[in-house]
Amino acid sequence: MQRIYMDHSATTPVDTAVLEAMLPYFCEKFGNASSVHQFGQEARAAVEEAREKVAHLINAKESEIVFLSGGTEADNYAIQGVGMALRERGNHIITSKIEHHAVLQTCEVLEKNGFSVTYLDPDPYGMIHPEMVAAAITPRTILVSIMHANNEIGTINPISKIGSITRERGILFHTDAVQSFGKLPIDMENMNIDLLSASSHKIYGPKGVGIIFIGRGTKIDKLIHGGAHEHNRRAGTENVAGIVGFGKAVEICENVMKDEGRRLTALRHYFWQKLQESMTGVYLNGHPTERLPGSLNLSFAGVEGESLLLSLDMKGIAASSGSACSSGSNMPSHVLAALHLPPERLHGSLRFSLGRSNTEENIDYAISALKEIVERLRAMAPTT
Ligand code: PLP
Repeated sequence: MQRIYMDHSATTPVDTAVLEAMLPYFCEKFGNASSVHQFGQEARAAVEEAREKVAHLINAKESEIVFLSGGTEADNYAIQGVGMALRERGNHIITSKIEHHAVLQTCEVLEKNGFSVTYLDPDPYGMIHPEMVAAAITPRTILVSIMHANNEIGTINPISKIGSITRERGILFHTDAVQSFGKLPIDMENMNIDLLSASSHKIYGPKGVGIIFIGRGTKIDKLIHGGAHEHNRRAGTENVAGIVGFGKAVEICENVMKDEGRRLTALRHYFWQKLQESMTGVYLNGHPTERLPGSLNLSFAGVEGESLLLSLDMKGIAASSGSACSSGSNMPSHVLAALHLPPERLHGSLRFSLGRSNTEENIDYAISALKEIVERLRAMAPTT
């Protein structure tokens, strides 16, 4: 049986060139980047080279890039750090109902500590518009946190326009760019962003490493205390091999981003067109055009997303479902719920996220598997 991976928004395989770049930093060049001797300086040089690559990709200054453990830590850092640093000035934060849990749960922690949080409703495509943000601002607002691209439905938000409103009003703006970093152009000089989260394992780099971009002059408290690592912004001995791998993954993204974006967009269109030709009762969730190149979130009427996911897995196809079944609740995802979809679209949803390994043949195979499974499940469903 062939195995086809179509869950690249969850994670990606480490690129072989990335692995090769990392290997010397485990046994041979194993120094602590804070040590003064040559072993340490070798590690330091590698960390700084990776920082240069990351900064270059997003047109930032190297001093604005802080390495840490990944997207979750970056989101926690941005929100808690600004909350703590600016609490004398205000206690209001604006975010959206469809952020990643790393943002939502951090906001909930702040709510328990005297902050008030506005959770914006997206439009039916999962987009947050600048006017929605502008209307929610109060004199106590200190931070707006709106993601660049949504991890479940792939919708891309008009980040620069949201940022120009926050800039004008003197409010800090954080964006969770974990899903867009390395896939969409990001320009920190021109996008009015103060804080940005990104993660290595979504772009064919290793897990457990990421960055927070902290724009010059941004007031933020530290999240992790200890040594003076990372310009005194994130304590803890640097994950040198991980950072080197992340840097290499970024370098590759910079070279392939345009072509890969075009190829994945075409593959996604092919998938959606063919699927509509081969069955009825299938719907696209998220924005029809303003979406991540490889991301396709679909609802199949009359089918449970979890049953579909498991049946696909038995045919070797890896996708992801929108329900929070793992929590035992079998509730629809908070993202789809916020789109106010009809119940059958909420429960029969599936996310396919295409990546470098996927081909048209993979999609043909997935479509024939989907056709067979959906027909079988619909025939078994009590409503049909
Ligand atoms: N934010 C978004 C939008 C994500 O998709 C993810 C991971 O799925 C995260 C944050 C968390 O990133 P990490 O896995 O690096 O902690």
